[in-house]
Amino acid sequence: MGVELKLSPFTFEGIPAEKPLVMAGPCSAETEDQVMETARQISNYGIKIFRAGIWKPRTRPSAFEGVGKEGLPWLKRVKEELGMYTATEVANVKHIYDALKAGIDIIWIGARTTANPFAVQEIADSLRGVDIPVLVKNPINPDVELWIGAFERLNRSGVTKLAAIHRGFSIYSKTLYRNNPQWEIPIELKRQIPDLPIITDPSHICGSRDLLFEISQRAMDLDFDGLIIETHCNPDKALSDAQQQITPDELHRLLSRLILRKADIDNNTLLSTLEELRHEIDKYDDRLVELFELRMAVSRKIGLYKKQNNITILQASRWDEILKHRIEQAAQKGLSEEFIIKVFRAIHEESINHQTKVMNEP
Ligand code: PEP
Ligand code: MN
Repeated sequence: MGVELKLSPFTFEGIPAEKPLVMAGPCSAETEDQVMETARQISNYGIKIFRAGIWKPRTRPSAFEGVGKEGLPWLKRVKEELGMYTATEVANVKHIYDALKAGIDIIWIGARTTANPFAVQEIADSLRGVDIPVLVKNPINPDVELWIGAFERLNRSGVTKLAAIHRGFSIYSKTLYRNNPQWEIPIELKRQIPDLPIITDPSHICGSRDLLFEISQRAMDLDFDGLIIETHCNPDKALSDAQQQITPDELHRLLSRLILRKADIDNNTLLSTLEELRHEIDKYDDRLVELFELRMAVSRKIGLYKKQNNITILQASRWDEILKHRIEQAAQKGLSEEFIIKVFRAIHEESINHQTKVMNEP
């Protein structure tokens, strides 16, 4: 099933259409001074879109849940005095009503809300006939269909200025990141809806300042369209997400360090070298698939043997042995442990499926 969306360009008057589109501002609007000071500094660096959370979806109710609508006039000041566009998160009809009344230019749907189709539908219904750009953060769980569903709901209500925000995904195990980037999910979104801009949110992916550049650069190398980065005039004193926010100076430094590569190749020699290399890759991929076929044929033989001798399919010690050996081998060949574990988990799963099939054959 294809995804059919009617999209309008996600561009703003006075902002050049070139990449990256940058949005910056604090996690939360805290005081009028903090909002104005942060916006002023960011605006001095030429950034035109100001983000600030007014209503904050926090994990525990004892955390700072935002100033609420009393902060909206502050964003209005940012717009009027600095000529910036303002953006905030909305999660229900009341938020939308207040945000629109205060002249907010762009709204976003947070990760926890995207995960709830009832909430998204309610938001979509209330936006019928309203021509406002809407950014949709990925749902907290890595489910590209759920993300697409939110775009479809909004689009059916006539919202056409849509963009995605990639903010990473919750996982139980501890990783380097607060929210695992799982780049394959936004890449799949791009494959299914090529015209939908993708804005990466390194702040919520990283959860700390030190990794922000690396994630921003990766987003640019994947030809994504923009960045939304939490920026605060005094990050250490921020009332929410303090560890991941940076100062406007740091933001400026980060953006100036980004290397922007071109996505289109206009030079013929370049193109033919690339073609050759791609051809070489295709040949290896063909061989990989053929090898998988041969490997699974052996798995089926093993399955049959186990069936005839009444042995269980899974022998945990054998699997552990395979994995250990391959991790050592991978290290010698310059392949990461993470990669080799993923590949062998997938192979092992497929192998078990083949064996199970043989076992269950009459
Ligand atoms: C935010 O942008 O401050 C926020 C709450 O983000 P998310 O919905 O990605 O957690
Ligand atoms: Mn935040």
